[in-house]
Amino acid sequence: MPFVIAEPCIGVKDKSCVEVCPVNCIYEGGDQYYIHPDECIDCQACEAACPVQAIFPDNGVPEKWRPFIQKNKDFFEQK
Ligand code: SF4
Repeated sequence: MPFVIAEPCIGVKDKSCVEVCPVNCIYEGGDQYYIHPDECIDCQACEAACPVQAIFPDNGVPEKWRPFIQKNKDFFEQK
């Protein structure tokens, strides 16, 4: 159950999550940050650190932002 960064990150990119992630699996990607779904160890540190509440466990992403689950995955597949 990786964590996912959703819409509130866009245009904000506060970066607090990057600083707290123990495995450095949060990457900068243009309009927002992204969490690598295979590298995330589900520690929840980023979720608590995010000032705009953009981060959710993949099974807890609000309905309107569910496409961000795929957007996070796609970002790494395009690399
Ligand atoms: Fe990193 Fe933990 Fe957030 Fe996963 S849940 S992205 S390991 S801080």
